[in-house]
Amino acid sequence: MAGALPNLALLPSPSEWARSSTEDALERCDALGACSETKGAILRRALTPAMRDAHALLRAWAERAGLVVHVDALGNLRARREGPPGSRTLVLGSHVDTVRDAGRYDGPLGVVLGLAVAEALRDVALPFALEVIAISDEEGVRFGRPFLGARALAGTLDVEDLALRDADGVSLAEAIARFEALDTSSTTNGFGVVDGVDACAIRPEDLLAYVEVHIEQGPVLESLELPVGVVTGIAGHVWRTVTFEGRAGHAGTTPMALRRDALAAASELTLAVERLAQQTPGLVATVGQVVARPGGNNVIAGRAELELDVRSIDARVLADALATLDAQIAEIAGRRGVKVSARDRFASPPVVCAPALQALLSESVRRVGLDVHALPSGAGHDGRILATLGPIAMLFVRSPEGLSHHPDERVHAIDVALALDVTLDFVRALAARVSAVDTDSVSVADSVYVADSFSVADSVSVSDSVSVSDSVAVTDSVSAESRTT
Ligand SMILES: [Zn+2]
Repeated sequence: MAGALPNLALLPSPSEWARSSTEDALERCDALGACSETKGAILRRALTPAMRDAHALLRAWAERAGLVVHVDALGNLRARREGPPGSRTLVLGSHVDTVRDAGRYDGPLGVVLGLAVAEALRDVALPFALEVIAISDEEGVRFGRPFLGARALAGTLDVEDLALRDADGVSLAEAIARFEALDTSSTTNGFGVVDGVDACAIRPEDLLAYVEVHIEQGPVLESLELPVGVVTGIAGHVWRTVTFEGRAGHAGTTPMALRRDALAAASELTLAVERLAQQTPGLVATVGQVVARPGGNNVIAGRAELELDVRSIDARVLADALATLDAQIAEIAGRRGVKVSARDRFASPPVVCAPALQALLSESVRRVGLDVHALPSGAGHDGRILATLGPIAMLFVRSPEGLSHHPDERVHAIDVALALDVTLDFVRALAARVSAVDTDSVSVADSVYVADSFSVADSVSVSDSVSVSDSVAVTDSVSAESRTT
């Protein structure tokens, strides 16, 4: 797991502040990593005692930064300083839940960097409120549905979600109540005031922007020898289950011409999926699992179920790819005389990071002395959900060996330091921008100006052309409850 060390000769020097804050930040990631449900490995799911332990740490760090902390009903820890009356809120955040056997940086890094920036600005007047949010559930490990924390913030959780159950049969509603009970400090020091789920929601008119620093979880920045990258958007993706039904039979006695081999059909589709993605710029597509039944070396498979994952940052590319694959699925099934059905388990449109925020972030990257590289996110992030409220931006930090969702997940300290310098510069630049457009009237004016120029429409318009229903419509047997966004 050695991995190449960054070539320091290619990199600017981080500020003194960033150097010392990086030491803190990395120690904090270690400390959060110790808050785990499992011994010797990291697992921290939403609304668990391990998460409560993490909250105790986060609260102390946030208060050191001069922020006032509360935990909303969904377990999002929200650390806030108010802005001028009527001003909007800049949210710096990421998630603090993890996958099983996780690393220490996927999620927590963005939160501890947000806290470091808030602390650096503790005595600096800002023309907006600043909120660092440690989002409770992004990975969806506990209740089998991702983005519950961000969906509470976006006001899109519903009663159906509250009835979701974890592996122990505990519903989300019960987990919320138990988490409240865990938090004995709520009456004594203001921590852990729990509102109703509805009260978690941020009003769109109150949000200036949501900005997240996150590890890249891929190999692109490392291949370019760059410590950070400006994210252009979050790829839309569709998870589709395709089931071929042929006829099981004896592998020795059934002549080739008389077979209806479901596994052969699934295999043909697997290669077609790979070929399509190889030939289509901006598309990635994967068959990650095939289950063949009845399963035996001397049995022709009568049934094969295949899991397909298709992603693109470009809604048109995604929609075209799905249409092409539908035609290929039908062609393969028809030619081989097998039945086929498909259903989408999850479909999410692409989300574009607000162009004006990308530009501001790019300027900060340049001012810190780095080359700007813009790249899309193939992985899902909370910004995908929060883009329904307002403009979002993301900064990626190089992932050594592209490793993530793995205990060996790492970051280079110099990259973290430079990301801190970029983020602090960005918040300052945003503050200057908001202040500059202020007239002598109320501060709502500047907020509105900024909101207009980073319009919500920018960040979601691309998604119009590939709505969930579009991508679902092309398959036959989609079950409503299988879709989550
Ligand atoms: Zn993450």
